[in-house]
Amino acid sequence: MDAKELMEKAVRFHGHICPGLVFGVLAAKYVLENGYDFSPNEELVAVVENDNCSVDALQAILGTTFGKGNLVHRDYGKMNYYFYDRRSKKGVRLAIKGGDFGEKKQTRDEKIQFLLNSNPEDIFNIYEIEYNPPGLALIEESIPCEICGEITMGSRLMSYKDSEICIPCYKKMRG
Ligand SMILES: [Zn+2]
Ligand SMILES: [Zn+2]
Repeated sequence: MDAKELMEKAVRFHGHICPGLVFGVLAAKYVLENGYDFSPNEELVAVVENDNCSVDALQAILGTTFGKGNLVHRDYGKMNYYFYDRRSKKGVRLAIKGGDFGEKKQTRDEKIQFLLNSNPEDIFNIYEIEYNPPGLALIEESIPCEICGEITMGSRLMSYKDSEICIPCYKKMRG
């Protein structure tokens, strides 16, 4: 699997070329080369601990997307990526290595080229993990908020006094 080809696909989706995107390309490359496939539905699940540019590469290359519910964001500010495959019941974790990969004095373009020529194993610590994916996306009832009236997923309504209200209204009421 050619990293440059994967990069082109990611850039078409993401809109620009940047070093962050290459990290996602390398993670996706590793996944595709190690028994996981593109996910037209929810077969593959990505759990990511950051929401930076790299995640767009996963969406474009692996089909783990926000809209399908097979991209789960945990806001931990870490470049860690977990992948679970519902077909093979396998899981893998990629965690970025510390340090600067020797690219400190490189320009932005040099850094992009350096990363594109790296192996995923150079950039990430990679571990097989237990198969333990988050649950499937649920289809649930929508109910109007008793304050603003906007239709809201039932599981996101908050109880306030005797009302069921949406999160923004709840935040306003709590001041
Ligand atoms: Zn970017
Ligand atoms: Zn409301």
